[in-house]
Amino acid sequence: MARPLPGPDDDPRRGCAATRGADGRPLHAAALRFFWGPMDCGKSTMALQMNHNHARQGRRGLVTTRIDRSLGPQVTTRIGLAHAAIEVTDGLDLRDLVNDAWAEGVRVDYLICDEASFYDLEHVEQMADLVDNYDVDVYAFGLATDFRSCLFPAARRLFELADSVARIQVEVLCWCGREGLLNARVIDGRVVREGEQVVIGDTVDTADVRYQVLCRRHYRAGELGPRD
Ligand SMILES: [Zn+2]
Repeated sequence: MARPLPGPDDDPRRGCAATRGADGRPLHAAALRFFWGPMDCGKSTMALQMNHNHARQGRRGLVTTRIDRSLGPQVTTRIGLAHAAIEVTDGLDLRDLVNDAWAEGVRVDYLICDEASFYDLEHVEQMADLVDNYDVDVYAFGLATDFRSCLFPAARRLFELADSVARIQVEVLCWCGREGLLNARVIDGRVVREGEQVVIGDTVDTADVRYQVLCRRHYRAGELGPRD
């Protein structure tokens, strides 16, 4: 069942009106949901599981990613799952993905946006637009903070705009056994706190750069544990 195609000249409120019943209540409340957690907590696995669950119910979705650890246009997970995905590039408009699909007669019920903390701020605004004006659910997955323990700009915007925010409940443990919370960037066996927010090593371990999830205490102390 094709949905109406919103065009650039359409009244942006039209989508809202179309989703309301006679009493003004939303018939389908699309939502922007942000799921966050440190590295290794299973975000991409959960993203693909969610995609699978929705697809099994007959819903149609698109999967997007940015700088996946495979460095290819797919979502890969640390436990070996993989799924083709659309790479979110600088100039990409997420709304165009939906418009293009609809133009080809392909329904889009939801977007799965993996590695969303690496997206641009405009992409987060587009996610909100897809929910509010296109009635498309958007499920975003990503890190909250970078190696300096500061929020990624896109993650901050998601915290500000999302209808719901959930910390992924798969626990990653620090070497001390406490809950892992923060991603330390490790170069030559030492925790570093300055540098580019995103480097290639963020998603692919290299000889020079690796990441280790630490509890707050050991992140702040810069202690990597007995094996380091
Ligand atoms: Zn610790």
